Amino acid sequence: MSFTLAIVGRPNVGKSTLFNRLVGKRLALVDDQPGVTRDLREGEAKLGDLRFTVIDTAGLEEATDESLQGRMRKLTERAVDMADVCLFLIDARAGVTPTDEVFADILRKRADRVILGANKAEGSAADAGIYEAYGLGLGEPVRLSAEHGEGLNELYSLLMPISDEFEDRARADAPETDVVLDEDIDDEPDGVSGPTAARIPTPERPMQVAVVGRPNAGKSTLINTILGEDRLLTGPEAGITRDAISLQIDWDGLPVRIFDTAGMRKKARVQDKVEKLSVSDGLRAVKFAEVVVVLLDAAIPFEQQDLRIADLAEREGRAVVVAVNKWDIEDDKQQKLRDLREAFERLLPQLRGAPLVTVSAKTGKGLDRLRDAVAKAYDVWNRRVPTAQLNRWLAGMVEAHPPPAPGGRRIKLRYMTQAKTRPPHFVVMCSHPDKLPESYSRYLVNGLRQDFDMPGTPIRLHMRSQS
Ligand code: GDP
Ligand code: GDP
Repeated sequence: MSFTLAIVGRPNVGKSTLFNRLVGKRLALVDDQPGVTRDLREGEAKLGDLRFTVIDTAGLEEATDESLQGRMRKLTERAVDMADVCLFLIDARAGVTPTDEVFADILRKRADRVILGANKAEGSAADAGIYEAYGLGLGEPVRLSAEHGEGLNELYSLLMPISDEFEDRARADAPETDVVLDEDIDDEPDGVSGPTAARIPTPERPMQVAVVGRPNAGKSTLINTILGEDRLLTGPEAGITRDAISLQIDWDGLPVRIFDTAGMRKKARVQDKVEKLSVSDGLRAVKFAEVVVVLLDAAIPFEQQDLRIADLAEREGRAVVVAVNKWDIEDDKQQKLRDLREAFERLLPQLRGAPLVTVSAKTGKGLDRLRDAVAKAYDVWNRRVPTAQLNRWLAGMVEAHPPPAPGGRRIKLRYMTQAKTRPPHFVVMCSHPDKLPESYSRYLVNGLRQDFDMPGTPIRLHMRSQS
């Protein structure tokens, strides 16, 4: 399943030019199909390795009278409703016009996600218009030149996560999947409103959280305590299989869907012969989750099983929070905390900087801090660093510590972009990526963590060849 992109905007901003660039000759005119407006063009777009449907509100004339304005509005609304994501183009050379404002208004009210494109941005004549575009309240504009094919990298990096999401959805819907999906999993797309936007959980799109850990770590108690204190938004639902249960709650104002734990089953009194969830259930919960809470028993922390599941969560690219439970029965809390931190660093170096929170599921102590840590981890996991900022940063990093010069030829790092969020993926265009030592990648990853405030979250960094 691929997604649909609508290119919208007033006449003459370059919609058709961009449409043609994306679609090339693969144009499928939909005019003759009944029920489809003659004014919408649809085509199969290709951008890098992405394939998606693009619709263009072609044939709009400048709206000079009432009826034309109405028609323009209708057509745009229809395109917006058909699309999963809208690319709103303005002409950066002309700046923001009153008609652009009308379109922006429609999009703010009606569209799920909007990418703001400042077209005709080749050269410096467009700079003023780009600054004006910030004022539309639709996030950071992407500099584009449909005519010269500029800015398509940036567009690609914004569409890639959306494409992934739709592929994930398609996989989840496929009958042969080995992952069992709760019927009620919310798989609505993110609300991307600009290059820097993060997904914000809403009641319709709650954050998906799994609590995992060894048997008797206190998972059931934890969930029940949270449920006891907080509002249950929807009732517990049994999923397709015996194990898949999810529950949506409002955790102190944070809409959360919690997956697949024994605790919910007890609470739900779902008819079930299985008493405790097995390790494989925990593994499955990780697949569903956006944030994984690894719950440890303070008396026996970082057992083999805990390490395995934390490592899996990292490899699956989930945001991870480590919670140490039964803190109420610890005597020397300070010494214990030092020991825990030391063990965490040593045993789970791949999760450096991930939050470690002490809680008592029984008394509820520390659960507010756990909630905050979960919200923060999720935020970091969703973070997007604008390309311009990344490249300034990269230049500084390279200057401070140049890459090696094997055989006398210095490896050049030319360009960097964040290709994906959830977790953050970065791509660096590089001459001879195969010769760049691992230590240099680590230097960059650690720098990213520090300079862009991304502790804990898995960070993926890919070097791509470009000589
Ligand atoms: P539409 O009405 O929004 O579909 O706009 P068109 O695609 O028909 O483009 C309107 C005019 O802007 C045409 O003359 C295009 O050649 C021109 N145009 C489109 N993209 C660019 C661009 O990136 N830079 C410049 N300078 N002109 C462009
Ligand atoms: P699960 O197997 O991970 O779901 O663990 P349970 O929630 O069933 O808890 C296992 C045992 O640990 C039960 O006897 C709980 O009462 C106890 N327990 C859970 N949380 C705490 C806690 O914060 N403090 C103390 N002292 N005991 C706890």
